[in-house]
Amino acid sequence: MMTETSLSRAEYLMELEERHGAHNYHPLPVVLERGRGVYVWDVEGKRYYDFLSAYSAVNQGHCHPLIIDVLKKQAEKLTLTSRAFYNSVLGEYERYITAYFGYDKVLPMNTGVEAVETAVKLARRWGYVVKGIKENAAKVIVPENNFHGRTLLAISASTDPGSYGGFGPYVPNFIKIPYNDLSALAKALEDKDVCGFLVEPIQGEAGVVVPDEGYLAKAKYLCEKANVLFIGDEIQTGLGRTGKMLACEWEEVRPDILILGKALSGGTLPVSAVLADDEIMLTIKPGEHGSTYGGNPLACKVAIAALQVLKDENMIYNAHYLGQYLRNELQKIKSPLIRQIRGKGLLNAIVLNTDKKDTGWNLCLRFAANGLLAKPTHDYIIRLAPPLCITKEQIDECVHIIRQSFREFKE
Ligand code: PLP
Repeated sequence: MMTETSLSRAEYLMELEERHGAHNYHPLPVVLERGRGVYVWDVEGKRYYDFLSAYSAVNQGHCHPLIIDVLKKQAEKLTLTSRAFYNSVLGEYERYITAYFGYDKVLPMNTGVEAVETAVKLARRWGYVVKGIKENAAKVIVPENNFHGRTLLAISASTDPGSYGGFGPYVPNFIKIPYNDLSALAKALEDKDVCGFLVEPIQGEAGVVVPDEGYLAKAKYLCEKANVLFIGDEIQTGLGRTGKMLACEWEEVRPDILILGKALSGGTLPVSAVLADDEIMLTIKPGEHGSTYGGNPLACKVAIAALQVLKDENMIYNAHYLGQYLRNELQKIKSPLIRQIRGKGLLNAIVLNTDKKDTGWNLCLRFAANGLLAKPTHDYIIRLAPPLCITKEQIDECVHIIRQSFREFKE
């Protein structure tokens, strides 16, 4: 039997995961125990800046005191009733979030990918009931290199063999076109069976790929002209991350179906939501869609607090202003390994200039040794996405860590 005595505590805990958990992740060798604001601490008490923010789920900062307070109070009162009954918080939350984002209705779910599934189901249903597409013919257009999660529907939409490979058969009727390509979109929209265009305003998992200015606005216009729903997946880009409440706001685009997740709970619970107007939302009738935990009172209370904190603490302005500052400072780092710095708000990436697959990983190990946590995506891209409560002084310290790490690093 494995004991803690022959190993350090961190080694012991990593070994436990390796032995008893599925091997569907490959974490950096850091074992975290505590978090507060922009910081996390490992089991040995070493402090790090968190530049992943749980893939942008912790926009409000770790263990935000107001969110945790609301969580604790509601947890002692009522956590889950199922949707078989009304509960005393759901209506309040529904009114709050629909007013906040300006939609008629919300459909609450839990994880991001469930909300994506919900959005595609809604678009298909709208396609049949409102647009008049014939049964089972509805299609959804998706850009290549998208990421919408890990269910069969989401991987069926994927063009990344690492996501979909070996899991077929797939959900049919996705039309895949290049991202940031309006003529490909216009052509795909000629198909009268298309009900939706599912798009990330910035492709996060693909490596923070920012489309050309005007892409989203023109895409929305083309969708409207073709009577096709624009479905904005703002699970990663939304809730202040890019320096606007929603990344689509940069181009004054209002998605017909808006998908939110991650930071909707400030990193405390899986809480996701789909927002749409009545013409779309009311095509789903009682008993036709749902989730045991969706709309539970604990999630509802927490989501209200998480949204309120974003506004009350100026986090969106902070993301915009400090994002620009961070990119400017990173541009000043002189290293042959840096090909490009890109991003919007506090969703940023360093694109590496290397063909060695483990350079990104090894650089992130250096960052960690120097007190900053980040993780490469697609080997050559390091995403930099700290909690939105970060200060200018903290950014300065982080840029220093990053500069130092590049200086020390040998490929
Ligand atoms: N959509 C986007 C744009 C995402 O970035 C993610 C997760 O990274 C998802 C959907 C899936 O969310 P979840 O992991 O909560 O299912």
